[in-house]
Amino acid sequence: MEPIAIVRSCFTDKFGIPRQAGLVPAATASLEMLPPYNRPEAVQGLEAFSHIWVFFIFHQAVARGWKNMVRPPRLGGNKRVGVFASRSPQRPNFLGSSVVRLEEIVAEGSGVTIHVSGVDLLDRTPVVDIKPYVPYSDSPADADNGFAPPPTSSLDIIFAPEVLDFCQHYEERQGRPLQQLISQVLTNDPRPAYHEDEREYGLTLWDVNIRFAVHGKTIMVKSVRPL
Ligand code: SAH
Repeated sequence: MEPIAIVRSCFTDKFGIPRQAGLVPAATASLEMLPPYNRPEAVQGLEAFSHIWVFFIFHQAVARGWKNMVRPPRLGGNKRVGVFASRSPQRPNFLGSSVVRLEEIVAEGSGVTIHVSGVDLLDRTPVVDIKPYVPYSDSPADADNGFAPPPTSSLDIIFAPEVLDFCQHYEERQGRPLQQLISQVLTNDPRPAYHEDEREYGLTLWDVNIRFAVHGKTIMVKSVRPL
């Protein structure tokens, strides 16, 4: 296999990436098609679909290798299941699959870029295939979620006034909904499952570093600074 596209994503660091696709609708990315797959003909007709499958390589997981058993965050990070019972990046062949919303396909000159949202993909992830998502077949009506029911969140998010100011300016300058992205990412509580502490965490989205702390059920976004 060889990459057919490279992901350019708002997630420029692994910490903070949602644990599944679709959890953060404001998470946008573009799939930049690579030659010889960057011909408009190769994506002709894809625009008819609302969602697409993206198959990719967990390239930042390769160095750590894989194991027969993993500890999924959904089980609190302390119970183990078989690697094939999980969606863990640490798996043989390091193959990932995500269903994402298709926003727009832009074909200009010699380039084709597919804009998507709801991603759980790290910036610069190599993509090995793209297919239309077809709900009648890909979403069986009688499917259950096993040990991974849809996550719920009861966290409130409070932004420091200077953070709100920064977000507003950033949105005007860059056209990226930073505040909404921060909210949605933090609602999903990116802290490791076994960390229930109140220490300060740092998170990078696009080219912005965000500092936050959790107090009970409230997340305080304390500061932001451009990288
Ligand atoms: N929807 C995919 C991914 C689920 S795991 C699947 O089911 O196959 C989601 C986690 O993958 C994210 O939290 C992020 O930490 C990790 N991830 C995303 N892109 C990655 C990459 N290129 N290399 C390593 N890990 C990655």
